[in-house]
Formats: sequence, structure tokens, C-alpha cells
Amino acid sequence: MPFPISEATPVRFAGPLPDACDVVVIGGGVIGVMTAWNLAERGLRVTLCEKGRIAGEQSSRNWGWIRQQGRDFGELPIMMESLRHWKSLSQEFGEALGFRQEGVMYLARTEAEMAGFEAWRAEARSFGVDTEMQSAGQVAERIAGAATPWKGGLFTASDARAEPWVAVPLLAEGAQARGAVIVENCAVRALDIAGGRVTGVVTEQGSIACDQVVLAGGAWSALFARAHGVAIPQLSVRATVMATEPLPQVFAGNAADDAFAFRRRADGGYTLAPGAAHDFFIGPDAFRNFGLYLPVLKKDFRSTKFLPAAPSHYPDAWGTPRRWAADATSPFERMRVLNPEPSARIVADVCQSFAACFPHLGAPKLKAAWAGMIDTMPDVVPVVDRVAALPGLVLATGMSGHGFGIGPGFGRVIADLVAGNDTGHDLHRFRLTRFTDGSKIAPGPSL
Ligand SMILES: Cc1cc2nc3c(=O)[nH]c(=O)nc-3n(C[C@H](O)[C@H](O)[C@H](O)COP(=O)(O)OP(=O)(O)OC[C@H]3O[C@@H](n4cnc5c(N)ncnc54)[C@H](O)[C@@H]3O)c2cc1C
Repeated sequence: MPFPISEATPVRFAGPLPDACDVVVIGGGVIGVMTAWNLAERGLRVTLCEKGRIAGEQSSRNWGWIRQQGRDFGELPIMMESLRHWKSLSQEFGEALGFRQEGVMYLARTEAEMAGFEAWRAEARSFGVDTEMQSAGQVAERIAGAATPWKGGLFTASDARAEPWVAVPLLAEGAQARGAVIVENCAVRALDIAGGRVTGVVTEQGSIACDQVVLAGGAWSALFARAHGVAIPQLSVRATVMATEPLPQVFAGNAADDAFAFRRRADGGYTLAPGAAHDFFIGPDAFRNFGLYLPVLKKDFRSTKFLPAAPSHYPDAWGTPRRWAADATSPFERMRVLNPEPSARIVADVCQSFAACFPHLGAPKLKAAWAGMIDTMPDVVPVVDRVAALPGLVLATGMSGHGFGIGPGFGRVIADLVAGNDTGHDLHRFRLTRFTDGSKIAPGPSL
């Protein structure tokens, strides 16, 4: 399958839309898909509405890393559970998912970076993760022919990867096989609210009555929620990715330093990306939430390029309406698949860094370059919570650049939250009120 998924990808899930169900899931990325899967398994009638294509946005555009390493400690237990789910999913779907457990390596060019790795590893040990520090010699044994003089690294052998643009649509087929109704080309325009609680949704294909709605809309969640008076301080950044033609293997797992990240795909090419660089389009939400983002900006300022405005119809473009009528075309239909242009500057820089590190491979020939809008939160930690002010609405968004690996784990957790079951994890770290209750913003590790 060509990557990533776009509007040119044929519709694979066409409903039909029911008049009523128990739960509507908004958004067909990995979070919505795995939530629908788990809700269906619990015997609930679930409908997933996707405005474009399953996995059209972040969930087919990501690097495919499934990592425990470097996670926020609030997320780590859910991520460890998620890895167990990935293993059983790979048994159900076989090779097709592209699941391979060959490790994640972070590479340090400075002693300060090594100290940061060691601090994370020391705390992670109590969770039982198999993360180890690596000397320069151990790195050289694992990564063949690298010219970069790394001081050492951080390595988690049990971390893994999968091929996102294949995996997430397959998982959607699995959700459908368990009874979830999935409808592509079906934007949810608004919630139906009666007596102060959610009673359904209005979609472009008609209304669905339901008791609960899960908002898993990725970069669109804040725009949708705000129209109903729910403020999510979410922003998005553009992240550029590229795919090389097949090349010899230099490392079996996934690796990154502060300049570039790489991992070999199932087709023998590498998926390359910058280690940290990304672009940020300034819009009304950036002004609204500026204060909340100061702590993370201080850490990340150098890796962010600021651009004055997003292209038309992006969630936080200056011209995007903040209110719309439920019986008219909404911003969600105007942009079925958010498919940003990759940054030519970043593509050139990353290719140069990769070639300088692996001179024996020569200049990489690219077969594709693309970008995705990463939905992020002020502390780089998701929001997974019920909205107290609007009973029936559950938020599952702001995965902050690491939602692919944790998707199966969060899907299970969110389904139990919706079903009123014990989720088995402490979700305090993911509450929406942390941005308004006077709590200090505590950014997760940007490792
Ligand atoms: C370049 C890049 C690299 C990344 N690398 C990794 C990685 O290696 N490992 C990792 O774990 N994570 C990674 N991530 C992050 C990961 O891809 C995301 O966190 C994850 O895919 C988010 O899933 P989601 O379901 O929340 O959102 P999305 O995949 O963005 O899906 C949201 C969906 O909701 C739909 N939608 C929105 N509003 C509506 C509406 N009103 N009606 C109907 N549908 C709607 C959208 O069309 C979209 O398809 C990366 C992300 C990017 C962009």
C-alpha cells in the first residue's frame, strides 16, 4: 500500500450509519479504532465516524515506533500493557502488521544527554522495563558503520515497531469483525445535547442517538470541543517524514539522536525523520494557550520553527470558523484528510545527516516524503478523561507525538472508562482539569 493514507485512498469502511447506538467514537486514528474494538468486545453497540479515511492523519504518517523508552511515568504502565496487546495482535494478523520487536536506541552526542538517559532509566527500573545504558563500544557493535562519534546510548530491547499505514486499517477491520460499525467520509459536525448531557451526534450523513461520545479527533479535537464550550489547550505541530528506497541494514531496531531518527521498514527502505525539528503555524489557539506552553517552549524552543499562519482550512488557521451550524458543511468536511506539505529544509537536513552518519550507504534516494500534524498538549501528555461539565462526553486526545505505540493500551483503557469498569490504571495524570485547577504544568520527558 502506498504511504501515507490520503483522500486518494479508496473508501474501505462505508457503514451504513445506524439511527442509534450506545457509543459514537469520533475519529478513525489508532485511538478511535482501538477504542471501538474494545467497546465492541464488551458487547456495546459502537459506531466510529471518520471524516476522511481510517488512519488518514497521524495514524498512517508516523514513524511506527512502539516504545516504552523515554515515556512519561504516568503513561509507562499503559504502554507496557499496550506492548502486550501488540504482541497478541501480531499473532492475530501475522506478518501483515509489520510488528517486530528489535528495540529502540537513543543516541547521545554529549555527556549531558547521557545523564538525561540515565535519570530516566533509574526511575524506569522500578516499573520493570528492560532499558539499559550503552557505552560507545556497545553502540558501535549494534549500529554498523556509523561515522558519528556517539558517547553512548539508551536501549530497550523489548521496544518494537509496526507499519502504521498497513496496521491501523487492519486493526479497523478487526474492530469491524467484532461488531463495530465504521463509516468513512462521515464528519461529525456537532453533539446533540439535551438536559445538559450528550444524547447523540449530528453527522454529515444524518444523526445518531447515543448515550456516550468518545472524542478521538487528533488535531481537530480542540476545535470540536470548543464549539460545545469545552476548552482543551491543544496545539499542533507539523512533523516531516521521508522514506528511502531499500538499503542494506545498519541496525535492526529504531534509533534516534538529536539530528535524525531512522528505522528500517518491512520493504527494506528506511523511514527517516528529524530528531526533534518541527514547524509550528501560529493561529488563534497559539495566543489563547501561550502561557500554558511556556514550560515546554523553554525546553523545545530551538527545535521549533515558527510560521505566521497555517494553510487554509487547518484546525487553527486564522480563517477557520470556530462556530458553525449543524445542518451546514463544517470545517471537518472542508479538510477530509490533513495532509501537510513536508518541509523541504527538513528533508534536505535529514538526508544530509543520514548520509554523513552512514557514508558507505551513499546519499539516500527517497521514494516519498510527507508530513503530519502532531496534536500536542502543554505537558506533552494526553487527555483521557470524562468531561464533568458535559456528561456523556469522553476525551481521548492530545497523544503528543507518541500515540501509535500506546494506541492498543489506551483503546482498552478508554473502553473500560466508557463502560464504567475499573480501568486498572491511575488516570489522574491525564485529567482535563490539570490545566485549570492551579496545578503546575509538569512536562513529560522530551526524550
Ligand atoms: C510524523 C509523526 C511521527 C510520529 N511517530 C510516532 C511514533 O513513532 N510512535 C508513536 O507512538 N507515535 C508517533 N506519532 C504520534 C502518533 O501518530 C499519534 O499520536 C497517533 O496516531 C494519534 O492517534 P489519534 O487516533 O489520536 O489521532 P489521528 O491519527 O490524528 O486520528 C484522528 C482522526 O480523527 C478524524 N476526525 C477529526 N475530527 C473529526 C470529526 N469531527 N468527525 C469525524 N472524524 C474526525 C481525523 O480525520 C483523523 O483521522 C507520530 C506522529 C507523527 C505525525
